[in-house]
Amino acid sequence: MQFLPALAIAMAALPLAAHAADPLSYAEPAEVRVTHVDLDLAVDFSSRELRGDATLTLDWKNPEAANLVLDTRDLAIGKVSALDAEGKASALEFTLAPRDEELGSKLTIAAPMHPTKVRIAYATSPGASGLQWLTPDQTADRKHPFMFSQSESIHARSWVPLQDSPAIRFTFKAHVTAPKDVRVVMGALNDAGHALDGDFRFEQPQPIPSYLLAIAAGDLAVKETGPRSAVYAEPSVVARAAREFEDTEKMIDAAEKLYGPYRWGRYDILVLPPSFPYGGMENPNLTFATPTVLVGDKSLVSLIAHELAHSWSGNLVTSASWRDIWLNEGFTTYVQGRITEALYGKALADEEALLSARELEKSIGGMPENAQRLAPEPRAVGADDNLSDVAYDKGSWFLRFLEGRYGRAVFDSYIRGYFDHFAFQSISTEQMLAYLKANLIEKHPGKVSWDEVNDWIYGTGIPKDAPLPTSSRFDAIDRQRKAFLDGTLPAGELDAKEWSTQEWMYFLDGLPEAPALERMRALDAAWKLTGTPNAEIGMRWYSHAIAAGDTDVWKAAAEHAVRIGRMYLTRPIYQAFVKAPGGLKYAEQVYAKAKPGYHPLTQRMVERILEEARKNSAKDAPAAGAA
Ligand SMILES: [Zn+2]
Repeated sequence: MQFLPALAIAMAALPLAAHAADPLSYAEPAEVRVTHVDLDLAVDFSSRELRGDATLTLDWKNPEAANLVLDTRDLAIGKVSALDAEGKASALEFTLAPRDEELGSKLTIAAPMHPTKVRIAYATSPGASGLQWLTPDQTADRKHPFMFSQSESIHARSWVPLQDSPAIRFTFKAHVTAPKDVRVVMGALNDAGHALDGDFRFEQPQPIPSYLLAIAAGDLAVKETGPRSAVYAEPSVVARAAREFEDTEKMIDAAEKLYGPYRWGRYDILVLPPSFPYGGMENPNLTFATPTVLVGDKSLVSLIAHELAHSWSGNLVTSASWRDIWLNEGFTTYVQGRITEALYGKALADEEALLSARELEKSIGGMPENAQRLAPEPRAVGADDNLSDVAYDKGSWFLRFLEGRYGRAVFDSYIRGYFDHFAFQSISTEQMLAYLKANLIEKHPGKVSWDEVNDWIYGTGIPKDAPLPTSSRFDAIDRQRKAFLDGTLPAGELDAKEWSTQEWMYFLDGLPEAPALERMRALDAAWKLTGTPNAEIGMRWYSHAIAAGDTDVWKAAAEHAVRIGRMYLTRPIYQAFVKAPGGLKYAEQVYAKAKPGYHPLTQRMVERILEEARKNSAKDAPAAGAA
């Protein structure tokens, strides 16, 4: 995935000892494990629910086990039955526990006879945390409703009753019915030529963790981008998306050259409506992507490099718990950089690494100590702490550090061996470290000490000798920004005509938190940043302009926030509004307008910002009766 604050919230509740049961799941995998799931579901847009049944194939581990315990959230459970070898059903007793805010409702099924298969009839709720239902008006083409899932981190349980932990892998088959004018797709092998007959079948033959379960349905057109890749999107978007992502096949080739064969068959991309809360989600065979990367010049396609890289790091070798998520995201961000370098050159890959490193340097000091660690200690860090980008950016930085010390020949073959060794397994940080020690550190002595490794994994902050790439283009921008801020270089004379998306991002990221108002106005007059169609630039511009006190940009900033539900691009706008005089009230109005189109995760994120701001403004207000 790219950028996941909701996961940070889940992780914060976290903390477990290595190999302990997953604290974010009720499942008891030492008793029994789900090895395969058969779904038979109907998509009902009018009632906003998926309805049908899930049949779980079970591998009983403990002969004494009495129950099958599953994760659910807001599911209406109908009948639960055991299936015998002939498929004959017999009813099982079950209890659904009261709902826990974070974990959902524990479903305990009495199954002392250890059936091989258990079938659960159920329906999802219209507010399922892992599904978003859009009206036709909330889509690009405004003709048909749209539905999509986002299961990571712990939302699969809101649309399938299962063991919802990344440590547990299963294969699946699905039969899904839907209205005849929509196409259903899943994180499985999809048939681009499938007739719109309202009846779809899917199979995922590789064992995957539950957070990779994915489904979408809507008015979807398809366009091939290569022999094993295609783009799915609404009809008015699909040609533009296929052009933007025309390098997909080259990306797969580049990744295969580095890390061995792509093991999943096809690699397709689904472009979602702008309410998709993330940049991308690496659902197997079918990356889900935000339309905000369709800027026309391929400048943001490293998002696809990232999601594709997950086919090795994350989907093939998976973090066993959310505490180990850096094994997914740090490795993926590193591999993403290598794919970007192979296709678009070292300068761009270095610029993207620098952008994220600089952001992390700015933010890491403000995080709780435990949140600064790649592998947090087994204790809670507080559910409202923002863990931000440590898993991604400190994780990939650690791998670039190792690459620098060992050289690419040794390090590339080490990483390839790591993916092969742990293929289709879910592992902990400590399992990764044991492999690292034996196969890199001790095999090539004298390059990296074990203390250095420990400092990266368990230490706070960023290690002193962390290597940074250099970028002469960014250096030039640093000089120009400084002269511009000093007033010695007028905004119109910035050498920005040829700046890429990344160069604008870097320029804007380096502005002071609250720049001088007249500087911001001059910048906008010269470069027309207000109203930019590029949401990466827009997010940075609006948040700085609002902080500078420029109320003229509020309307355009509000339009950006209403139009785009991707949390990473929307959060800074709300954060800037609530800090501005009169901004909290305005932000509340913006949110009231935006809310119906936002994903449940985005709603939760904005509501937290507003709630926090209301609390602070109540604190700042003079107490009643005070002089
Ligand atoms: Zn990712």
